[in-house]
Amino acid sequence: MDDRTYTADAAPGGTVTVAGWVHEIRDLGGIAFVILRDTTGRIQVKFEKEEMDDDLVETGLGLSRESVVSVTGDVEEEPRAPTGVEITPESVEVLSAADTELPLDPTGKVDAELPTRLDNRTLDLRREAGQAIFSIRGEILRAVREAFREANATEINTSKIVATGTEGGTELFPITYFGREAFMNQSPQLFKQLAAGSNLERVFETGPIFRAEEHNTPRHLNEATSIDFEGAFCDDDDAMEICESIVVAAYEGVAENCADELEALGIDEEFTVPERPFPRLSYEETIERINALGVLDDQLVWGDDLPTEGETALGADVGRHYFITDWPAEVKPFYIMDHDDDEALSTGFDLMHPRMELVSGGQREHRYEKLIEGLEAQGLDPEAFEYYTRAFRYGMPPHAGWAIGGERLIMTMLELDNIREAVLFPRDRQRLSP
Ligand code: ATP
Ligand code: MG
Repeated sequence: MDDRTYTADAAPGGTVTVAGWVHEIRDLGGIAFVILRDTTGRIQVKFEKEEMDDDLVETGLGLSRESVVSVTGDVEEEPRAPTGVEITPESVEVLSAADTELPLDPTGKVDAELPTRLDNRTLDLRREAGQAIFSIRGEILRAVREAFREANATEINTSKIVATGTEGGTELFPITYFGREAFMNQSPQLFKQLAAGSNLERVFETGPIFRAEEHNTPRHLNEATSIDFEGAFCDDDDAMEICESIVVAAYEGVAENCADELEALGIDEEFTVPERPFPRLSYEETIERINALGVLDDQLVWGDDLPTEGETALGADVGRHYFITDWPAEVKPFYIMDHDDDEALSTGFDLMHPRMELVSGGQREHRYEKLIEGLEAQGLDPEAFEYYTRAFRYGMPPHAGWAIGGERLIMTMLELDNIREAVLFPRDRQRLSP
């Protein structure tokens, strides 16, 4: 449609053709208004029944909500119209008529349940808030890419069909690969390390990860978007600094370019870019602080996972993003390096938002013998990982990296209650389509 004008650009004094959805029809008797919506906003189309051609009035007032139409007419100033202008139509063309019964109300006046919304996602995302979330998601990906490039990292894409898992066997989705067992990748971990060991040195990827999580929770998906970084000649401190800079870049991009979207979500006033550096607590300090908060029935001891209630209480106490460092080696995966002076302590770290974990990372074990020992210590078969470990025999530099859960970043930034709000077509225990 070459001659189409966006509703936001329709200025008084000319003839335009606008196209979009019928948002609302207000029939006041002698006069009726059709509110037309497109991606940039809304415009009022005025039908004066007595003065206009009968066919035109009939077409205009016979429109069903959410039908797609194109309207040609003069734009005039009208202070009482929502955007200060209105169109007096010369012609109305129906491009696609909508059923009169809609499964949900895209004006957002009537709330719908999340499953109904997800079943009708196209309609659902015609609501302002839905459009805002996905505009912001796009901005976050743009800002993050730019920040990675400034950090000299090259964008890569790794395979999603793999021979082994990395983060524990129970969360794997098996598939059949020409008669052999294969899996959907849980994380690009091993592949991004192999890429960092090449002359690329610093790499990043934003792509899907697949986790066969058994439970439906508000912060777990079965297919999520991971924002991954891996850098040669980086240690855990370097990796944490880069991680902070990427998270802050995402917030800055949204603060600079998404004012309208933040307003549509009702969070424009409280939106703030987190300040660097983020505080760092060792795992030991973390469990001491959680114990001191007195929210758990049993005191935490060294080696325990952090229960959600403990994480939430500590998050409220810290009140901002913070790192948990120096985790017990036994709770971190085999590829994480331990501290040289204390093998019970790993270089693994997590970045926490007050509400939940956002990132896991660490320095990686780059010494071949230690890597094999680590695999064996976790009951994994080094033979099965030979495709990965062989590169460590041909000059693997020290390296470190991390993974941000993309949807968790969006969810925490935008104060969403459920992670599914941040995904177009979420995959969970019940949901495989659309
Ligand atoms: P959690 O303990 O919260 O389930 P995890 O420690 O198992 O997360 P990692 O393997 O550390 O997850 O993955 C790195 C990041 O990817 C996490 O910090 C999180 O932000 C995100 N992530 C992991 N699993 C999921 C999931 N099932 N759904 C959404 N995001 C996820
Ligand atoms: Mg983790």
